[in-house]
Amino acid sequence: MQTEKEIIKPACAEVNRPFPEEVVCPSCGAEVEVWSDEEEPRCTACGAELKKED
Ligand SMILES: [Zn+2]
Repeated sequence: MQTEKEIIKPACAEVNRPFPEEVVCPSCGAEVEVWSDEEEPRCTACGAELKKED
């Protein structure tokens, strides 16, 4: 199975595109990948709401 992440874009094209961020869940401590355009990110391990740092 192929993923879209294999497509490499120039840096200038990234400005308005969502990007993944590593967030540590405050509830269970799992490292969760949160996308910058997610409004209500949740931990994939325990389902807790995650806060993004801006
Ligand atoms: Zn969690």
